[in-house]
Amino acid sequence: MSDSMKEVVEALDPVSRHIIPPDIALGTLVPLKTILELRDNLSLGLAYVTRAPNKVTNDVVNIARALAGDDAAKNLPHLRRCVKPADIPPHLKTQFMNEGNGRQVHLGKSNWLYIVLGPKDEMSYDELVKGLANIDDIRDDIFVGTIPVPLLAPTSQVQANMWSQQFWQTVYRKNNPLGPHPSTISRTEAVVSRDASVWMTLAHQIAKKSQKAGYGEPIGAVIVKRTIPGKNESGKQTALKEGARESDFSNGEGAGADGDNCNSRPEADEGVNGIAHGAAAEVPDGIVQDVKQPDASNLEAQAQDSTKSDPEAKETTQIVAIAADARWHQQEKTGRIGNPMAHAALRAISMVAQKLVRAEDRPKSEQKMVDFEAFQDKPLLSDEQLVFDEDHPCPDGYLCHELELYMTHEPCTMCAMAILHSRMGRIVFRHRMPLTGGMSSEDRGYDMCGASGACGEGLCGGGQGLGLHWRKELNWTLLGWEWESDSIESLPVDAHLHA
Ligand SMILES: [Zn+2]
Repeated sequence: MSDSMKEVVEALDPVSRHIIPPDIALGTLVPLKTILELRDNLSLGLAYVTRAPNKVTNDVVNIARALAGDDAAKNLPHLRRCVKPADIPPHLKTQFMNEGNGRQVHLGKSNWLYIVLGPKDEMSYDELVKGLANIDDIRDDIFVGTIPVPLLAPTSQVQANMWSQQFWQTVYRKNNPLGPHPSTISRTEAVVSRDASVWMTLAHQIAKKSQKAGYGEPIGAVIVKRTIPGKNESGKQTALKEGARESDFSNGEGAGADGDNCNSRPEADEGVNGIAHGAAAEVPDGIVQDVKQPDASNLEAQAQDSTKSDPEAKETTQIVAIAADARWHQQEKTGRIGNPMAHAALRAISMVAQKLVRAEDRPKSEQKMVDFEAFQDKPLLSDEQLVFDEDHPCPDGYLCHELELYMTHEPCTMCAMAILHSRMGRIVFRHRMPLTGGMSSEDRGYDMCGASGACGEGLCGGGQGLGLHWRKELNWTLLGWEWESDSIESLPVDAHLHA
């Protein structure tokens, strides 16, 4: 064991130190890609534009919003909503000037603006025209043009400038609209990589124990709580912040102050732009960051503040739950599926939940509805029991809020959604499950199972990866890594298996 690993092990909680094997297998973390990061960056679509006098642009924007809904992506937040005739790309100027009352609109003293309404696919043309016809100043000459626009936000200022020339005025927000900000990943990775090998080795160990005992497939999960010194641990506050974060999401993720600004009536702009406030915040290093990303940077910033007063304070990690797959426990081993409620991730999350209930001192309902114990969420192996008997280190927050999950295999779609709903903060897994996993975003190949596959053909698969670690439309995102290691034996399972 290297000196740095010795140091890590010595800092572990007593139960973890007791159950870890003598040899910790080392591995490397590789960040998971999001679906958007893997998609072609320049994905174009058609958008409707119209034009209107300055004083009614908010009425126009409201009509467009009503048709496109609140889904921020549909409102193309990276495009400047309202643009002066002089500032639209030259080829559009030439085209639009010659339509309807275009000549007057493009006169130097004109107070008209061009307004992006939204993606063509998201709104009915007839409804749109009907809505615009309600506005007195444009009723007599309703203009609706169609232009190609980039559907995703730019990833650099250079790209934004280019798109502003080619398509429409584009705003770059100095974040990564396609996934977690690179600085968030690298800072968190620096922290997680110190002890990820410990937790992954433990996950492997419990997986093998469960397989040996005949309880389940060789799949293991470990849930860890990382405590950053000085970080506010008040669950109540966390819950409140959480609520705010979620409402931010639903109000229009990423809609920024300038993108939607029509520079017309300041008091009315408030209404249109209200959602924008707080969408981005300055962090100390000057990076404008999306505060709704459950990233470590803000927490670390807070931590840095408070560690100034207490330089000795050290970050600690503590195991909260460990669970192996138990799909064959109390279950006849026929077929290939077993008990899906006994997947390792579900059992581990349930054990966290039971600890929270215990901390609240609520009497557990021990009523058995049926003889068959579907959830299999009582500890089965002695390591599981040891960890289970320890109290939750911080039983205040919501279920798995900001906890870390280490797994031997990529969790199945069901477990991936459970992980997301539990508000897990980070996930690390080793073996990809290209046919059944829910976290990876890469497209699923057609030759993943081989001719020996249970499908008989070796041709199943296909379709897009789900990338459930980072789907902002699901109101939660977590940072995810694959863990690559040559120093611990791999745990092969059937390619069709749902881990
Ligand atoms: Zn599962």
